[in-house]
Amino acid sequence: MATVRSPTTEGRPYGVQLSTTMSLDPTVQSPQTLADVYGLLSERGGAVKIIAGGTDLMVLMNAHMLDAAEFLDIWRVDELRGITDEGDALRIGALTTYTQLIKSELIQQHAPSLVAASRTIGAIQIQNRGTIGGNIVNASPAGDSLPVLAAYDAEVEIGSARGTRTVAFNQFYTGYRRSVLEPDELVLAVRVPKLKESERDFFWKVGTRRAQAISKTVMAAKAQISDGRISSISIGVGSVAPTVVRAPKTEHLLTGAQLTATLMEEARQIIAQEITPITDLRSTEHYRRTVTGNVLLKFLRQLSS
Ligand SMILES: Cc1cc2nc3c(=O)[nH]c(=O)nc-3n(C[C@H](O)[C@H](O)[C@H](O)COP(=O)(O)OP(=O)(O)OC[C@H]3O[C@@H](n4cnc5c(N)ncnc54)[C@H](O)[C@@H]3O)c2cc1C
Repeated sequence: MATVRSPTTEGRPYGVQLSTTMSLDPTVQSPQTLADVYGLLSERGGAVKIIAGGTDLMVLMNAHMLDAAEFLDIWRVDELRGITDEGDALRIGALTTYTQLIKSELIQQHAPSLVAASRTIGAIQIQNRGTIGGNIVNASPAGDSLPVLAAYDAEVEIGSARGTRTVAFNQFYTGYRRSVLEPDELVLAVRVPKLKESERDFFWKVGTRRAQAISKTVMAAKAQISDGRISSISIGVGSVAPTVVRAPKTEHLLTGAQLTATLMEEARQIIAQEITPITDLRSTEHYRRTVTGNVLLKFLRQLSS
């Protein structure tokens, strides 16, 4: 059964000072089973805020930007953990942390760019606590695992008391910080197709420094090439649009083409044009377009070598 912790003891999540916009008497429910989570979500729906590792929510709370009085702490729900080999794909539980992804032999072997991405997220403390489900639902355009999930054509498994459903990761976001999740639903897992032996993948993040940096641009890609011709390619890019995006025009240009220096240069220019970055505190639109093109060039050169 769900437990309700007092706000004066454990109920003040992770000892963080309460926001003035928050209720002074927040409740934290900490169920241990998915059935109890479903029950609470169908009863309280949008009134309750799910908390997993808390690494995004605590920042909002400290910045007085989190207006929530009820929290549903899912950290104790072991049904949301674990990485399973399902044959062609890996099923990664929503509560899987970056440290677990980095250490997993299954991920190392079948989705190496997810390991590369996880290594760039925050520093060790964040990697120990932050979860892949939190990165997905937080829906930041700069979420570093997201270009990998986009390039791999992952699927998101969603659950509620009404049942489970699967949504293509590339159709999960409906706009800036918006997704298809209903108020009574949570993300159960993400299913990532295994990299084929004939495929190569890639991950590259550009930030101000190597750790604790938010991406200025971040790219993951996957391609199959034989005799210098690309038979398939998928490119996921973050921090260059309101949500993580694929680069369909660039993918179209490259698919079936012989990988020459001229083609690489054309691809560099097309991807720089097809993304829609903005100028913000971290970077300029011009920088993001230019560097995204250069990062793609880096991958294409690796492919051709
Ligand atoms: C110092 C610092 C550095 C960071 N560096 C990076 C970085 O380099 N790259 C990066 O991408 N991120 C970074 N982050 C952001 C954060 O660590 C990640 O987004 C992390 O994956 C969030 O996971 P969490 O479990 O902590 O999410 P939480 O904070 O618990 O939740 C985030 C959101 O997701 C919802 N949620 C969580 N799990 C579920 C679920 N299963 N179903 C439905 N809703 C759910 C919550 O309600 C909330 O809206 C950083 C954060 C900090 C504080």
